[in-house]
Amino acid sequence: MGNNSCGSKMLSELSYKKTNVFESADASKIKKIFDYSEGYKSFLNEGKTEREAAEAAIKLAKQAGYTEYKLGEKVSAGDKKYYDHHGKSVYLFKVGSADIARRGIRIVAAHIDSPRIDLKQVPLYEDSGMCFFKTHYYGGIKKYQWTAIPLALHGVIIRADGEKVDVRIGEDESDPVFYINDLLPHLGKKQLADTLENAIRGETLNVLTGGLPYDDDEVSDKIKLTVLSLLNDKYGITEEDFISSELSLVPAFRARDIGFDRALIGSYGHDDRVCAYPAVTALLDDDGTEGTTLVVLADKEEIGSESVTGMKTALFTDIIDAISASCGKDPAVVRNASMCISADVTACFDPNFAEVYEKRNSGIISCGACMNKYTGRGGKAASNDASAEFVGFLRKLFRENDVVWQTGELGKVDEGGGGTVAMYIAAHNIETVDIGVPVISMHAPYEVVSKADVYSTYEAFRAFIK
Ligand code: MN
Ligand code: MN
Repeated sequence: MGNNSCGSKMLSELSYKKTNVFESADASKIKKIFDYSEGYKSFLNEGKTEREAAEAAIKLAKQAGYTEYKLGEKVSAGDKKYYDHHGKSVYLFKVGSADIARRGIRIVAAHIDSPRIDLKQVPLYEDSGMCFFKTHYYGGIKKYQWTAIPLALHGVIIRADGEKVDVRIGEDESDPVFYINDLLPHLGKKQLADTLENAIRGETLNVLTGGLPYDDDEVSDKIKLTVLSLLNDKYGITEEDFISSELSLVPAFRARDIGFDRALIGSYGHDDRVCAYPAVTALLDDDGTEGTTLVVLADKEEIGSESVTGMKTALFTDIIDAISASCGKDPAVVRNASMCISADVTACFDPNFAEVYEKRNSGIISCGACMNKYTGRGGKAASNDASAEFVGFLRKLFRENDVVWQTGELGKVDEGGGGTVAMYIAAHNIETVDIGVPVISMHAPYEVVSKADVYSTYEAFRAFIK
């Protein structure tokens, strides 16, 4: 055995240790990290639903010279395209000069839907001097977190005449907001003794929408009539029009810096716009001309990636087929040569709840983009378990491009688990691994991330696309 200094040198050479991005950054890098987060916060505030996030992403793409792609259109090297999928999912791609049968397509897939409270199709009713919306929550929420906070109403209504009406109420300071009632502690003795899961039931997530009776003694449900008449004045809708609507309640909070040092960002919907924004900006900022890159912003991840706009849609391979056909290549060969980063968030180790994490194998805040080689639950069930070769390829790539990143998994074995779009992409014979930002309080109305991790994720995607 050598002396102490030799041992500490060996220890640092031989051991794996995570690096805090802020700690390893110089002043100019820290400025870049903070500047980048300003654009991200604007993206968050603009896009609180998948429709709005899709629109915000397309706006950025257009500014970068991307043009609309029509299915069936032939593309060639140098083309920069976006495909708007029903206004709820977006495919952005750039065709490079290199042979896609050999290099494949580099794919980054994130999702732009987030947990929220959706309206039922016959939502409006009046009870005891108040008017409410009936709702059905979307995604995995802790229901008690969604009561007693200001909510904004976002979405679309397709009227009987076929016209589409956009709704966005509760974001301007002068707008009213909406609200889900909770019980006062004085009468909450039984409720407080109940489990967090059961204390607030799905059918009590009713949204307060009004309290002013319509001025006519002849009618019943006067408050409901006031609300209906206001909606009719503003949007030209009747109650039946809710049947063909998609309306969601989302927290009426804006993205803001958290902490005295502003190192963190609090916002609704970090999951998964915190990966969508780096994916889009990494593509738009890339000036390479060789590689072919596809960024997918999928919808419906929070409810299993189903539906026409979910990751399981055939559109994903249709786009790859179309690019392959344009280049005169066999799409099966192209997919086989392609690689994908499934860009989704992961759980961030939280010392306040340390018991559910295994710290050595958890995403640690500010230690960079976190790779989850596998996700799933107990025994890696329902997981895309990426190959060591692909992980090794990315390790080398990130090292060569000075990306500070980390590895982690979602909590202790058998503690719970979760999934992403990774396995649906891997099912098409495309090497895929999960990389994304560690999130504190994931799926809560206000989630927290580190600015360092957002920027590191951007850098990781840039290195991958380059
Ligand atoms: Mn997610
Ligand atoms: Mn999620």
